[in-house]
Amino acid sequence: MADADIIAIGSGHNGLVAAAYLAVAGKTVLVLERNEWFGGGVVTRELTRPGFRHDQHSMSHIFIQGNPMLLNDELGLHSKYGLQYVRPDVPMMSIWEDGTTLPLHRDPNKSAEAIRKFSAKDAEAFLELSRQAAEWLPMIQASLYTPPMPVGASAAMMDQSAEGREIMRTMAVSTFDLMEELFEHEKVKMHFGRVAGENLVSPDEKATGIGAYVFLGFLEKFGFGVPVGGSGSLTAALIRCIEDHGGKVVAGAQVREIVTDGSRATGVVLDDGTRLSAGEGIIGAIHPHILPDMVAALPAHVAKNAKRTHITPAACFTVHAALDGPLKFKAGDVSAVMYELMPASYGTMRRACDDRRYGGFGRRPLVGVGQLPQHDPSRAPEGKAIFHAWDYVPYERPDGASWDDTKRDYAEVIVRRMGDFIENVPDVILDYHCDSPVDMERTSPSFLRGDLHGIATTPYQSGAHRPTPELGQYRVPEVEGLYLVGPFQHPGGGVFGAGRATAQVMAEDLGIDFDGIRVS
Ligand SMILES: Cc1cc2nc3c(=O)[nH]c(=O)nc-3n(C[C@H](O)[C@H](O)[C@H](O)COP(=O)(O)OP(=O)(O)OC[C@H]3O[C@@H](n4cnc5c(N)ncnc54)[C@H](O)[C@@H]3O)c2cc1C
Repeated sequence: MADADIIAIGSGHNGLVAAAYLAVAGKTVLVLERNEWFGGGVVTRELTRPGFRHDQHSMSHIFIQGNPMLLNDELGLHSKYGLQYVRPDVPMMSIWEDGTTLPLHRDPNKSAEAIRKFSAKDAEAFLELSRQAAEWLPMIQASLYTPPMPVGASAAMMDQSAEGREIMRTMAVSTFDLMEELFEHEKVKMHFGRVAGENLVSPDEKATGIGAYVFLGFLEKFGFGVPVGGSGSLTAALIRCIEDHGGKVVAGAQVREIVTDGSRATGVVLDDGTRLSAGEGIIGAIHPHILPDMVAALPAHVAKNAKRTHITPAACFTVHAALDGPLKFKAGDVSAVMYELMPASYGTMRRACDDRRYGGFGRRPLVGVGQLPQHDPSRAPEGKAIFHAWDYVPYERPDGASWDDTKRDYAEVIVRRMGDFIENVPDVILDYHCDSPVDMERTSPSFLRGDLHGIATTPYQSGAHRPTPELGQYRVPEVEGLYLVGPFQHPGGGVFGAGRATAQVMAEDLGIDFDGIRVS
C-alpha cells in the first residue's frame, strides 16, 4: 500500500488546486509543505501585530477570476468552502506628486471620462483599446487554464487571419511602442506603461504590448478580486476542499528528493529522511533551477535546459505596515485596489526601469501601494489599517552589502517616497515588516532571486515553452508520474489557479474524465 495515491510537494495555490481536483476525483492526496504555514504566495499572516492581517505576497487575485474553477465553481470553493471576493469599482489608480490622479475603472466609460481630462483624443483611443481588449479576451481566457497549444501550431493558426496577424504584432511590440501609437498625453502613456512594470519589465521591453490588452480585458470584465479575509482565504478554501475529500495537508515537511523506480516517480524523501510513497503520481512545485537537484533520473538535456532558464533582473521588495488609521493621500479621498505612485515624467519612469536592467537601483523608486481594509475591514482592528507597498530592486546589491543587513534602509526609502504622496506617512505607521528579494526566495523557492514570476516572462519562456520546451506540458520526460505546477509553468506568475491544467494532464494519464470532476 502506498502512503497516498497522489503526493503534492508544496501547498502553494497551484499545487493545492491540482491536488484538490484529484481529491475530488476520489484519489487519496497528501500535500507536503516545507513552511510552518500554507499557501506559498497566497498567504495572509500577522506579520506586524496581532489583528493586522497582511497578504505577504499576492494581494489581488486578478487572473483566477476567469478560471472555470471559479466561474463554474467546479470545486465548490464559493458555494461550500467559504471563498468570497469583493471587486472594487477602481482596480488601479495612478497618482502623481502634483496631485493629479488617473483611475482605471471597471466601466470603460468612466475610465474614458477620467482620461478626457488629459486628452479628448486619448479618451477615444482608450475606448477603442477597451473594445479590442474585450473582443480578444475570450480567446486569451480560453488559453490560460488548460495545457498550452504547441508554439508552432499556435503561431500558424494566428498567421492565417488578419486579426491573428494583428495579435501577433501586438505580442511582438513593446508597451512603449503601443502607447506611442495610441496616446498623445504623457500621463496616459505612463498610466499604461506602468502595467508592464508590474510584470517586472520596462515598457521599452519588446514583446510586452499584448499585456495592456490582457490586463484591461480582465480588469473590466472581472475586476480585481480582493479575497474577503485575505489572500490566504483562497488557500484555506482549497485545503477545506482537500480535507473534505479525505486528503491531508501537512506543514514542516521539506521534500529533498523524488524517488524513481526505473522511469517512474514513486515517492519522496523528506529532509529528515522519512520516505513516503505515491501510488499514482506526484505533483511538484519545483523551480526549473532546482528540479535537476531533486530528480536524479532527469535526462541530461532536460536538466541543462531547465538550469539555464532566465530569471528577471527586477526582484521584488515589499513593506507591510500596521497603521494607526487609514492613509491620507494628498490627492484627496481616493479609493482603488492598487495605487501606482508615479514619477514626474515618463522619461524618469523608463530610465528607472533601465537602471534595474544594469543591475542598479532605479533612479526613482517606482512604488506601488495597496490599502485593503478600505475594501475589506476584516484586515485590521477597528479604526486601524494596513498598507502593502512594493518596488523592484536588484537581487545582488551593487554595493555588495547583504540584503539582511540593509533591508530596513531600503524600506525607509520606500516609506520616504510614500511620504511625497501621502500626508500621514510615516507618522501613521505603528510597525512594519519588510521582505527583501532574499526573504522572498526563503518563503518560497518559486520566487528564486526575488522573481515573483519564478522565471522571466519572455517569448522563449512562454506558452508551451514555459519553462522549457521539454517541461512545457507539466510532465517530466522519462520520469512518468511526475507533474509540475508553479509560476514558472504556463501561463506564468500570478494567481491563476493554473494547477487546473496540471490536473487535466494528470486526469488524462490516469484515465479520469476531467469534466466529470465536480463538487456538487
Ligand atoms: C511579493 C509578491 C507579490 C505578488 N502579488 C501578486 C498579486 O497581487 N496578484 C497575483 O496574481 N500574483 C501576485 N504574485 C505572484 C503570485 O503570488 C505567485 O505567482 C503564486 O502565488 C504562485 O503560486 P504557486 O502555487 O505556483 O507557487 P508558490 O506560491 O510559490 O507555492 C509553492 C509552495 O511549495 C512549497 N515548496 C517548494 N518546494 C518544496 C519542497 N521541496 N518541499 C515542500 N514544500 C515545497 C513552497 O514553500 C511554497 O509554499 C506576487 C508574488 C510575490 C512574491
